[in-house]
Amino acid sequence: MSARNFFRCVVAVAGCLWAPAAEAALKVAALHPLLSDLARRVGGDQVTVLEVVKAGTDVHHFSPSTHDLQEMGSASLVLASGKNLENYLGKLRDNLTGGQLILEVGASIPSLEMSEAAALMEAAEAGAAGHVHGGVDPHWWNSVENMQRAARTVASAFSKADPANASVYDANASDYNKKLADLKKWARQEVAKIPAADRKLATAHLSLGYFAKEFGFRLIPVQGLNPEVPATSKDVAAAVDTIRKSKVRAVFPERGVNPKHLAKISEETGVVFGGELVADGNGTGALSTFTGAFENNIKTIVKALAPSAP
Ligand SMILES: [Zn+2]
Repeated sequence: MSARNFFRCVVAVAGCLWAPAAEAALKVAALHPLLSDLARRVGGDQVTVLEVVKAGTDVHHFSPSTHDLQEMGSASLVLASGKNLENYLGKLRDNLTGGQLILEVGASIPSLEMSEAAALMEAAEAGAAGHVHGGVDPHWWNSVENMQRAARTVASAFSKADPANASVYDANASDYNKKLADLKKWARQEVAKIPAADRKLATAHLSLGYFAKEFGFRLIPVQGLNPEVPATSKDVAAAVDTIRKSKVRAVFPERGVNPKHLAKISEETGVVFGGELVADGNGTGALSTFTGAFENNIKTIVKALAPSAP
């Protein structure tokens, strides 16, 4: 072998040994932690997910920094929740100069209108709805069916952006949706342990409308405990009154919302202080995925509201 050929050989072998891991076909930026989770489920190894809104972040008060904008410039698709959650999308569109498509995943999901959300509440409390963006409840991710629909929407967007892997995205979404169907079946069996009259959710942050509709709960928004406004002692007194009238068995604190007032209400009324619900997709660790947070919420609700085993 000539020296030149030997050199070529070495270069070829070294090339193989040192070749970087295959680049994912598609780079996607996600503006909600549960969309990062969904993008990973549907995209598998073919997609690199840029978590713009990281696990544990307050999704209602996020807005992208200059650094986030720069990072998003390298993605070909941006996933947003939609339903008016990200009030900065117009500005984002103007600032993304790479022709990135911003997909509002929630746009493919039927909205829970304000009037419908009110119908799920105890009539007297309907005025306390708050936390609804532009007449629409933005928390679509608190429903298994909605997440299944979102998986199909995301698979179809990935397939359009990367047609060579369309069959992979389709298969991943189908597999995930089968898991979600099993999860929903399990959740229904769990919820059935709660007497129908006790399927009431009293929380301080009105975020479980889609969940209530899917699993047959009534919502008891605790008036005056809107997380955006500090509660006065008058508010707490009104909330105590609501809790007594509605005969709920438990109140539930939520991740990201100060539990102080809810704890006081529980103390004053003697109603059970339930475990923490993760309702904004703002969990960390095992609770940062949709299935992790959903399972936690079902177990927490059933533990507080189902009669304990004899
Ligand atoms: Zn929320």
